Amino acid sequence: MVRLVAGQGKAQICKYGSIVKTYKIEINGQVQGVGFRPFIYNLAQKLELKGHVYNNHTGVLISTTCTKATIEKFLEDIQNNSPKASVIDQMSLHEVPYEDYEDFRIKPNAKGAQLNLPLTPDFAICDSCKSEILDPNNRRYQYAFTTCVHCGPRYAITQNYPFERHHTSLASFEMCPKCAKEYVHPQDIRFHSQTNSCSTCGIQLQLYDNDHNLIGKTTSSILETVQKHLSAGAILAIKNTSGYLLCCDANTKTAIQNLRAKKKRPNKPFAILYPSIEQVKKEFRCSRKEIEALQSSIAPIVLLKNTQHTRLSTSSIAPNLKHTGVMLPNSALLYLLSNSLKTPLVATSANIHKSPIIAENDEVAKQLKDVYDIVLHHNLPIKYPQDDSVLKYAQNNRLVLRRSRGMSPSHIGVSLKTRKCILAMGSNLKSTFTLGLLSRCYTSQYFGDLDAYEVFSRYKSSINSYLNLFEAKPDTIIIDTNLQYQSSMLGEELAEFHKADVVNVQHHKAHFASVLGEHSLFESKDKVLGVVWDGTGLGEDNQIWGGEFFCYQDRQIKRLTHLDYFDWIAGDKMAKEPRLSLFCILDKKEKCKEKFSKVEWKLYNQILQNNTLKTSSIGRLFDAAASALLDCNFNTFEAEASMILERVAADYKGKSYIDLLAGAESISGSLLLDNLISEKEKGINLPKLAASFLYTLALVVINLSKAEDIKIIACSGGVFQNAELVNILSELASKEAKYLKINRNLSTNDENISFGQLMYYEHCII
Ligand SMILES: [Zn+2]
Ligand SMILES: [Zn+2]
Repeated sequence: MVRLVAGQGKAQICKYGSIVKTYKIEINGQVQGVGFRPFIYNLAQKLELKGHVYNNHTGVLISTTCTKATIEKFLEDIQNNSPKASVIDQMSLHEVPYEDYEDFRIKPNAKGAQLNLPLTPDFAICDSCKSEILDPNNRRYQYAFTTCVHCGPRYAITQNYPFERHHTSLASFEMCPKCAKEYVHPQDIRFHSQTNSCSTCGIQLQLYDNDHNLIGKTTSSILETVQKHLSAGAILAIKNTSGYLLCCDANTKTAIQNLRAKKKRPNKPFAILYPSIEQVKKEFRCSRKEIEALQSSIAPIVLLKNTQHTRLSTSSIAPNLKHTGVMLPNSALLYLLSNSLKTPLVATSANIHKSPIIAENDEVAKQLKDVYDIVLHHNLPIKYPQDDSVLKYAQNNRLVLRRSRGMSPSHIGVSLKTRKCILAMGSNLKSTFTLGLLSRCYTSQYFGDLDAYEVFSRYKSSINSYLNLFEAKPDTIIIDTNLQYQSSMLGEELAEFHKADVVNVQHHKAHFASVLGEHSLFESKDKVLGVVWDGTGLGEDNQIWGGEFFCYQDRQIKRLTHLDYFDWIAGDKMAKEPRLSLFCILDKKEKCKEKFSKVEWKLYNQILQNNTLKTSSIGRLFDAAASALLDCNFNTFEAEASMILERVAADYKGKSYIDLLAGAESISGSLLLDNLISEKEKGINLPKLAASFLYTLALVVINLSKAEDIKIIACSGGVFQNAELVNILSELASKEAKYLKINRNLSTNDENISFGQLMYYEHCII
């Protein structure tokens, strides 16, 4: 969108007789660190324009003197041909006092005021850089940190803005004459590339063994040694441009088992790094959307369906599941490694249980010495380490399982009306924060469980980094109504320090607000049905909510109904032992007696007698169903039982389902499970029953939308990461002409809480 702002410009007659004026173009959006200025420079050369372009605190500014026809052509070309990684939010054109320019230049940046610019995420290595590093005649052959204006780390290495080399971790690497020449050559793909470097002047690799003996310095010797070790079953810790990864050969079962044992991760799926998309296509069933995602500049982990051609030891990579998390190399380093090995590798974030991904050379030795056999370091400091993003596709929906490298901190396309500075602190388990400033909304990457000290430290220091980067002082801090969350406690502390107001937003209302915000539904004149299903969140009646139905209308969110309450016992143990959920939900408790020892049975029955804490958690209902149907009684990682239930449901190819709540007057978990158990006893096959469980829940949503006469259904909460549920619900919704909306740029889980808190504040409070 181009907005013309009238200015005080004066026209001049140029030597050919046409009227020329001086124009200033302001471009806002994701326009720094994406090759925008070189693009403008070359476009200006093509149109024979004179003037200049530079980065400032709001984006890119251009000044040029030309005719009206030329400026129109220029604007059109900018809009139609801007660099792939750029996102233009707004362009405005001003007429300014006449200036006579001699040529067209890229000027140094000017930082005049408070930063007001979307932050640029990291970009996966582009095809052109890939071919350079494999070409023995190219001067970047085997250079593991090859980047260009279109690719390479950005957010990970940004110390400050505007995005200029001296504001990044590359500041201490001085360009050699050859790199410097590329930097100033307009036709070069490294023209004004801030991350430009080569093996002469750039980042150095060092390979060490577990006793800290240097065993490789040149790329070719390193690749050779790594290959030798990995094929012998070794574990490699490797510093990628966004943090360390732990890798081993994905075809060597013993290496995987060894990694599992050392990471104390018995069953949680590992992601697999493949050398090429061709190999992925041979081994997995993947749709066009999935292939596009794998090859995108995000280069995320995508969950793909295994086939009979999958050659991996899938039972040790993702036990009990039929999908594998697959990714392609996102950096030159991983590309070189993958290509020299030509075999898939397990690639998982390097951390110990629950800690954040490690990014510092000495930390990896301190924390993971007992895990790796060899470690590959480099000397590029990482300012913002991130895990890989994880995506899954339901038929028509992209489900974000984790929004991290490549996706964060991309902006979510929402602009705020308030001019206040607002900090939303988010949740506790899947923590993120969102900063609202100068009408922009910055949602951080996922951090993890804030009860883990190192995660909390990184979360806290990232909040401080953002406040410093933007020179911001929050006026309002939003926290969850659960004051026991680390995020809430820190929010209160920060509010006291900054003398900011504190506002509480209920957890599930924040979830609902996140999907309303992402789909611009706050402006809707029609009512919106909110379906928020997750594990836990403190409700307004001090019970634990998690199976919630809301209605949004006229700036208000009202709770319509919920899954019938059942007992919540044994605290955190409830989420770890699905059999406990079954025990709590069933009215006819003796139906699950065989899952407990005599002592346990007595104990839990006693606890139940005095218990007053109730829950409406659908997450726990899924656990209970998995326990009843599939005998999944213990989770070894979060949501394991419900993932197995999803896998079994996906095996059902029929179209007729059983409504397990037919004729029910309320949303009774007990009745649903009772019917599920009876059908199982009748001998109905498990896939049909698992699918019917999902169908029954989807039907509850559709029936409620009909009863309330609501056309738009907005879903959020971790339960909607279940692709089978989303598929069944989508089908029912389209049959009934309902519009189904689910979080799309954010994950449906608690990662969206901070953004939702801010949306709720903006639309329902102020
Ligand atoms: Zn490139
Ligand atoms: Zn160089």
